[in-house]
Amino acid sequence: MTTDHEFVHVAIIGAGLGGLTLARILQKHGLDGVVFERDASRDVRTQGGTLDMHAESGQRALSDTGLHAEFLAIARPEGQCMRIADKTGAFHWDEPEAPPTLERPEVDRGALRNLLTDSLEPGRIRWNHKLISIEPAERGCHVLRFENGKSITAGVLIGADGAWSRVRTLLTDAKPVYTGVSFVEIGIADGDHTNPELADLVGHGSYLALSDNKGLLAQLNGDGRIRVYVAFRAAETDPVLTGIPFERPADARQALLAQFADWAPQLTGLISACDDSFVLRPINMLPIGLNWQSQPGVTLIGDAAHLMSPFAGEGANLAMLDAAEFAKELLATKAPREAIKAYEAKMFARARDAAEESARNLELCFAPDGAARLAAQMAAYQAPGSSDTTA
Ligand SMILES: Cc1cc2nc3c(=O)[nH]c(=O)nc-3n(C[C@H](O)[C@H](O)[C@H](O)COP(=O)(O)OP(=O)(O)OC[C@H]3O[C@@H](n4cnc5c(N)ncnc54)[C@H](O)[C@@H]3O)c2cc1C
Repeated sequence: MTTDHEFVHVAIIGAGLGGLTLARILQKHGLDGVVFERDASRDVRTQGGTLDMHAESGQRALSDTGLHAEFLAIARPEGQCMRIADKTGAFHWDEPEAPPTLERPEVDRGALRNLLTDSLEPGRIRWNHKLISIEPAERGCHVLRFENGKSITAGVLIGADGAWSRVRTLLTDAKPVYTGVSFVEIGIADGDHTNPELADLVGHGSYLALSDNKGLLAQLNGDGRIRVYVAFRAAETDPVLTGIPFERPADARQALLAQFADWAPQLTGLISACDDSFVLRPINMLPIGLNWQSQPGVTLIGDAAHLMSPFAGEGANLAMLDAAEFAKELLATKAPREAIKAYEAKMFARARDAAEESARNLELCFAPDGAARLAAQMAAYQAPGSSDTTA
């Protein structure tokens, strides 16, 4: 029941993969957890491309939600394959068939978010609740005010509110900074039928063409769309980025092609065949190793705590693992202050390791010989005795 000012034991800000995973696990254990999300509904934004769910993190969290079997029904193990080429089209790594394991199956982000959203009881997600202010109250509680005029008191406040987290301001002054790399997201609908040659090139998983501090990063989505990130190492003010006339798709396409004039035509076909949707995505990160003095009644999960570039493929996996690990601590101690301290100590360490790897991979990929360097690292990961398999 909604009253003018209610008390919520665990208030989760943000219905991304982290916040939803936490809400689902709390619900499973009969705890009062409510997600407050600024979007008006689940459908107001498209949810982006495909994610590989790692066995030791994202999938482990899914097991704790009790939804692992449902996840496997929407996962695409065949999407685990990877091809890496340079600008001539020569392959430095070619794995056209996926390994016969379930270590890192792909899943569409939208399908995964729907699975989690549908698993929550009515009232566990409050849409159209943009958090606009937070005031500390007694005994570690916080009074939260939302743009729609409503307010609540939270016993425990979890910031799962992503890169530009409002909740983070309670714990640290740190803010995301630009990594020096930007993506222009484009895509080709129904690639198998509209562009079979490009679909063959990309295969069932990911295709990365990397040279000259640039990249064409393509991935097949569950609906047959080939999603392509045209990636540049460039300052945000660089005309390479500011000069793209996004409002005129034909000219935007030509502007992108001009940056890849000496790349093989089979690769630049990914740009010339793209439809009229262009989205600029500057890639930001929080400082590596960010931590803070634990405070009663509030913590962060996911990008709010450790935004990093996508080059370790860890962001969504870690957001979900954070949720599962925080829930585990809370269920074990029932004392939120102790749960937060125990969770944060482990989260800081694993986030630092992933952020370091992500930053290293960014440097590998955006180099004159990015393809050769990334392929050499893939080979090293797969060498006997290596425990790391991330790409
Ligand atoms: C191009 C790209 C590719 C990526 N690829 C991968 C990949 O392959 N694998 C992987 O693991 N990760 C990947 N990531 C990273 C991944 O997308 C993020 O790490 C992950 O989505 C973080 O989840 P989250 O729940 O912490 O935050 P988010 O998904 O950002 O969710 C935050 C939610 O909070 C809401 N919110 C924000 N502010 C407020 C407010 N004031 N009040 C209420 N609600 C609010 C937002 O609307 C949003 O719904 C990629 C990222 C990018 C940019």
